[in-house]
Amino acid sequence: MRYSGFKVIKEALTGHKGWTPAWRDPEPKKHYDIIVIGGGGHGLATAWYLAKVFGKTNVAVLEKGWIGGGNVGRNTTIIRSNYLLDGNEPFYEFSMQLWENLEQDLNYNAMVSQRGVLNLCHTDAQRDAFRRRGNGMRLNGVDAELLDKEGVRKIAPFLNFDSARFPIKGGLLQPRGGTVRHDAVAWGYARAADSRGVDIIQNCEVTGFKIENGKVLGVETTRGFIGANRIGCAVAGSSGKVMAQAGIHRLPIESHVLQAFVSEGLKPVLPGVITYGAGHFYVSQSDKGGLVFGGDIDGYNTYAQRGNLPVVEDVCEGGMSIMPMIGRARLLRIWGGVMDMSMDGSPIIDKTDVDGLYFNGGWCYGGFKATPASGWCFAHLLANDQPHPVASAYRFDRFRKGRMIDEKGMGAQPNLH
Ligand SMILES: Cc1cc2nc3c(=O)[nH]c(=O)nc-3n(C[C@H](O)[C@H](O)[C@H](O)COP(=O)(O)OP(=O)(O)OC[C@H]3O[C@@H](n4cnc5c(N)ncnc54)[C@H](O)[C@@H]3O)c2cc1C
Repeated sequence: MRYSGFKVIKEALTGHKGWTPAWRDPEPKKHYDIIVIGGGGHGLATAWYLAKVFGKTNVAVLEKGWIGGGNVGRNTTIIRSNYLLDGNEPFYEFSMQLWENLEQDLNYNAMVSQRGVLNLCHTDAQRDAFRRRGNGMRLNGVDAELLDKEGVRKIAPFLNFDSARFPIKGGLLQPRGGTVRHDAVAWGYARAADSRGVDIIQNCEVTGFKIENGKVLGVETTRGFIGANRIGCAVAGSSGKVMAQAGIHRLPIESHVLQAFVSEGLKPVLPGVITYGAGHFYVSQSDKGGLVFGGDIDGYNTYAQRGNLPVVEDVCEGGMSIMPMIGRARLLRIWGGVMDMSMDGSPIIDKTDVDGLYFNGGWCYGGFKATPASGWCFAHLLANDQPHPVASAYRFDRFRKGRMIDEKGMGAQPNLH
């Protein structure tokens, strides 16, 4: 069924009896050409591009819970492509271009809103670094504008300009950055993939792999054994657990919880996404009016989808120091998601040592904005057994060869990425 304004009016006039389920609820088949483990944004996008771009429709997505229950439905919805390094920038810009056409592609309203992402700077050295990053972006054909203090004041007069411990010196703006309704991304990809024949199988946890002579033959699940020629693993914060089932016990990834916060609904106040440069704090306003914000990960390793109070305090302090009026808003909800933090802050989309088993993970703070490009590139790898050109740097062996993509210049410290 195609969605359209005409369809909405027709259904409104006829009692909303003509809507059908957005995707089927199929029983798993005995065997698929390709299985994607994980019904998050990346797994579902992979399935859609496998079907649409690479003509592979004998595909299943296996999700242990419900689709959208993981990080894809828990993030702070920010999209941007403001990267410096060559290994990253073309990939994230590819993703941005896919976001720009996503709703037409999926025939689904994902509320893609390019309202701008503004990174504040607070020292001369930080401004130099932002200028360098902005120039790097422009060399890659990406939009970037360096603002002085007055330029920032015009966009966000409510920020703490006059009595801040770390005064605002300016900012780097990417006007094409913005926000997207996160769970609609999962639903849109699921519906589109299903319409091409992909089986989306919820409540189906992968519990083991069948591997013979170094080749993967299928997966053991809570709904029985399912065979496959190729298997892609896209389980974000569960990467370590699932890959261990295939005998891969050492990944360059740690799992940490990241919390997100939303306030009560307010009248429109924030023009776009704003990030604090002297602490870790980022904020935007949802179309319902809530201020959506976050900060650091909790520093310890965990698989729990809930965090602890020290980070709550730290995030609220960041908000208060840059935007004191946030202290008048009441907090409505807090939640957490389990993040796959890689050692250099950049992701992995690669084959594994097991023939037919492929891996997608290590997305750190930034996997939501990567969803379309990650899906496309992982589908390319699964279909052709070759990396897509814009994802060719995202290899496991970069850690062994010392070719880290250390975007933040923080070294091998997952908690700092
Ligand atoms: C609080 C928070 C804020 C964030 N903010 C942003 C942001 O503003 N911008 C941005 O770009 N990124 C952000 N991120 C990061 C981004 O959300 C993630 O990097 C991205 O969603 C991860 O990919 P995914 O959507 O595929 O993960 P998920 O949605 O977590 O998908 C993985 C799926 O695998 C399933 N799974 C796990 N184990 C198994 C198994 N054994 N069998 C079957 N299925 C299994 C899980 O149930 C889950 O549904 C944020 C993350 C969090 C937690």
